[in-house]
Amino acid sequence: GNIRVFCRVRPLLSSEQQGRVGIVATDVPNQVQVSSSGGKARNYLFDKVFHAASLQDDVFSEVEPIIRSAMDGSNVCIFAYGQTGTGKTFTMVGFEGSQDCPGIVPRTLQQLFFDASLDTTVEYSFKLSMLEVYRGCLRDLLAPRQQQQSSSKRQEILMAGSGSTEIENLTEIPIKSASQARYLYRKGVRSRSTCWTTANETSSRSHCLVRINITCNYGKQSHASKLWLVDLGGSERFFKTQAQGQTLEEGKAINASLSALGDVISALQRKQPHIPYSRNSKLTQILRDCLGKDSKALMLVHVSPKEEDLGETTCSLGFASRARAIHLGRDISPVRSYSLFSPFIVLNSFLLWISRAQGTREQLAWPTFWRR
Ligand code: ADP
Ligand code: MG
Repeated sequence: GNIRVFCRVRPLLSSEQQGRVGIVATDVPNQVQVSSSGGKARNYLFDKVFHAASLQDDVFSEVEPIIRSAMDGSNVCIFAYGQTGTGKTFTMVGFEGSQDCPGIVPRTLQQLFFDASLDTTVEYSFKLSMLEVYRGCLRDLLAPRQQQQSSSKRQEILMAGSGSTEIENLTEIPIKSASQARYLYRKGVRSRSTCWTTANETSSRSHCLVRINITCNYGKQSHASKLWLVDLGGSERFFKTQAQGQTLEEGKAINASLSALGDVISALQRKQPHIPYSRNSKLTQILRDCLGKDSKALMLVHVSPKEEDLGETTCSLGFASRARAIHLGRDISPVRSYSLFSPFIVLNSFLLWISRAQGTREQLAWPTFWRR
């Protein structure tokens, strides 16, 4: 497994059309160039770059293969990183409005059931959990409302002997269909935003994590894996702003957890024997078993196109470039190994090809998705 890093540049919003753009494409594929009016230009290369004109579809088609490797038994973590307002939530959740453009999470929920239906010799089951990490506290987004407010059931992070991470008391709901999954997911998203009085403000200072536990049974064997989809809190440096009180505390918590994540990543990069999955950071503890050897991580770094944001943009691109240099271990061999020409591989490839040719996936009911 390893860490792959994609970069997405947000388009200028209609309210910003006047601003000067500080980030552009170059002739080299998957490279971005950062330049300010006076300064020297710097280039950054990633595994994939999505420029301002890219669509949710473009992003998801590059993410799809890693979703498939979660179904094949790898622990996978996909996380959106970047300054507030650069489009992390847009990429992960999507846009709720007149135009429907669902993001990675709703598309993944759809894709899991679609892929599972193609392979009838293998039986998949999925369980959904959602949680928020805010100033070091966990909040279970799928727990019944009364339970969320009472403090009797605290979520604790436990380390199992096998090195896997468990979260005590976290609600896990078996999902049987894509429509049920969407219903639950929407409920979790609403639960996140209704808890805080100033929803947008606070959501940028918390991490939102969606976990799908995947179990796969084939014959007498089975394997289990986890897929984490994470919308991280904004990475801006709060200390530079004149934040005070509550805002400052929130900023410190975010800075601490993102820097703990950075430490884990750089220790992995340098192949250090000790990886600092900090006891003080809930985020790195939760993601621990998805950041080690035998797991796959995808970081989606988001940046603003505006020249005035160049300071933050450079920080985010630097963090992401360091992450990109990592190889977490060897690629794990596929759990199931079939002959390339086994009848169902051939049949499934054919079915997949037909359904794509006919655009079946596009018909899978996006329009009703985001409307209540
Ligand atoms: P973040 O979660 O990083 O704070 P948001 O996802 O809330 O940022 O995005 C900020 C604003 O920019 C939102 O109004 C969002 O709809 C818009 N936006 C972000 N990315 C895109 C995009 N690729 N295309 C169109 N609008 C976008
Ligand atoms: Mg957000």
